[in-house]
Amino acid sequence: MSLEVDVDRVLADLRELHERHGGPDGARRLAWSPDWEQAREWLLGKLGELPVTVDRDEAGNVWAELPGRNDDGRFVIVGSHIDAVPSGGWLDGCLGVLSALGVLRALAATGEPPAVTVRLVDWADEEGARFGRSLLGSSAVAGTLDPDDVRDLRDAEGTRLQDALARCGVDLDEAAAKAPARLEGALAYLEVHIEQGPVLLDTGRLASAVSGTFGDERYLVTFTGQAAHAGSTPMRLRRDSLAAAATAALEIREVGIRHDGVCTVGAMTAEPGVITAIAGSTEMMLDLRHLDADTLATMLQENLDACEAAARKFDCEVEAKRIFGATPTPFHPRLVELARAAVADSGGEDGDPIPSGPLHDATEIGRLLPTVMIFAQSDPPVSHTKIEDSPEEALRVAIAAYGRTAGAAIEAVAAGELAAAAG
Ligand SMILES: [Zn+2]
Repeated sequence: MSLEVDVDRVLADLRELHERHGGPDGARRLAWSPDWEQAREWLLGKLGELPVTVDRDEAGNVWAELPGRNDDGRFVIVGSHIDAVPSGGWLDGCLGVLSALGVLRALAATGEPPAVTVRLVDWADEEGARFGRSLLGSSAVAGTLDPDDVRDLRDAEGTRLQDALARCGVDLDEAAAKAPARLEGALAYLEVHIEQGPVLLDTGRLASAVSGTFGDERYLVTFTGQAAHAGSTPMRLRRDSLAAAATAALEIREVGIRHDGVCTVGAMTAEPGVITAIAGSTEMMLDLRHLDADTLATMLQENLDACEAAARKFDCEVEAKRIFGATPTPFHPRLVELARAAVADSGGEDGDPIPSGPLHDATEIGRLLPTVMIFAQSDPPVSHTKIEDSPEEALRVAIAAYGRTAGAAIEAVAAGELAAAAG
């Protein structure tokens, strides 16, 4: 089945949403805010035009079900997130939700139920922009949300995460306990998203299948030396923690290059932070990512070794504290193949699937279900800013390819081609 999404209509929906919940100052769809709830009301209005059943799970994710030929409880999931970072762009997340809406529309327009049931999902709080915890709704469904980890997170006003959710009718403990049942019978998950980076632009490609999402390790590394007078302490007698951290940072960069991954020292804070003093302690924020778990582990070891070596060189101590970790999520090979073919059939260039550096809801779900993503080129190659954009041609290819991937995936799961259902 070649499923043809009405691309013009998806683009019109995107522009309408941007007019209502975006504008010149960027997106106004911060999760758990009245703006976000209104944007979702708008989506419910669109869904109301289709023969679907809509409800919300315990974690606040919105689901819309288009029943398939057999009422056997098995289904394919299409979707993404409508929430956005404050003043964010017009495509991040909503491209996926409104393309999924386009898939439901195309299926409904055939006049016959699809071979399997299809459910659209709008994940709650993918961005984590308010409380610093991303993928909240999808991690609840995936069973990886520990309420005690997030309950007391506070926003800039001091509101606790648990209370903000309760105001939107979401009980955090219920969410973690009950939302995972939503995946019982799920066969596959498909998501289209903007790339949010420069790879497709750099290689002149409009869209691409995505091979998986990078594993991610985040560390706080503290170098401790001795604060001392900048005038009285000869160079050879210093224990300069900032020199150690800076030396380590340059080597960390080389590790990323060597392993074709990404290693980032995003911030360093030196104490006492005085122009006339040697830095007694320096804290460094380290983030490293790779699609291959073994290579990620090697990169981590080499990064930590680089910190040890730099500390020794400057007579400092070093301590590394892990603050976040996510394993790589390679997507399903058969679905990646289908998505690649769909991009080529939709006017995109045939090319190797690219990995995703950013985490997505597909990262959570891809650990449990056959999953694939499609990326549209970003130009300028940035996101989480109001200047985020994609060429219309790239959006057209990605949306059409997403529809074709959905059509092919529905056929594949109906024929029992993919792995068994979760749950
Ligand atoms: Zn997103």
